[in-house]
Amino acid sequence: MKVTLLSKSDSKIKIMIEDVDVGFVNALRRILISEVPVYAVDHIIVYENTSPLYDEILAHRLGLIPLDTPVNVTKEVTLGIEKEGPCVVYSKDIVSEDEIIKPIIPDIPIIKLGDNQKIKIHCIATVGVAKAHAKYQSCLAFYKYFPIIKIDKKCDLCGICVESCPKNILKIKNDSIDMVNIEECTLCKSCEEQCDLRAITVMHDPRKFIFTIESYGNMSIKDLIEVSTEIIEEKCDNFIKLLAGVAEHGQRCKV
Ligand code: SF4
Ligand code: SF4
Repeated sequence: MKVTLLSKSDSKIKIMIEDVDVGFVNALRRILISEVPVYAVDHIIVYENTSPLYDEILAHRLGLIPLDTPVNVTKEVTLGIEKEGPCVVYSKDIVSEDEIIKPIIPDIPIIKLGDNQKIKIHCIATVGVAKAHAKYQSCLAFYKYFPIIKIDKKCDLCGICVESCPKNILKIKNDSIDMVNIEECTLCKSCEEQCDLRAITVMHDPRKFIFTIESYGNMSIKDLIEVSTEIIEEKCDNFIKLLAGVAEHGQRCKV
């Protein structure tokens, strides 16, 4: 397997993964979006709520606020929020008993309180995974095949494919069709469909992928990759042990 960095920011990374099949990258995607454990508010205790919103709606909103999650920490954490209107209550108004496990994004609006309206709530945050509840989802992860675009010699350089590409990938340069930022190609095949001479063909490499991860902030991109690859490794080890058990004893095992 070969991995090449294409672009990187604090919350997003784009990499090229080569010499693997689609099963591997799809397993990585599924683990990233549903099995990386992170913190989220799991239940709340409402001491006072004279706002226009039901307690349940407030609980739902608080559950969706991303909380900073250190790797391998699983203790319960209590957070509190107490505000009186008139004001807008933001995620930065949530006070955590832990100096690390707290809202990462400060300006998420939770509720607008009018004159004399008040909320006083305790929140209990726990570690969970998104396959149990979406509030524990830590990132978005997706991939696409690496495109292959071939131009036949019957091309007359009419430029129709250049005009039809929504990503401006195709250019006419030195009497040929040139490709710029080919990794941005969405494989939409618009160029191919517009070419009357059938001189352009869009294909993909079945063992080469562009993989993107966008963190919601709970974990750094580095931690997300480390944790998800550890989970894949553990799953593979377990599977190998189960297979070895079947080979040795011929027994049926629950996977
Ligand atoms: S539309 Fe077809 S013929 Fe025209 S430039 Fe593109 S590939 Fe060549
Ligand atoms: S497949 Fe779509 S995005 Fe890719 S080069 Fe053709 S028109 Fe552009």
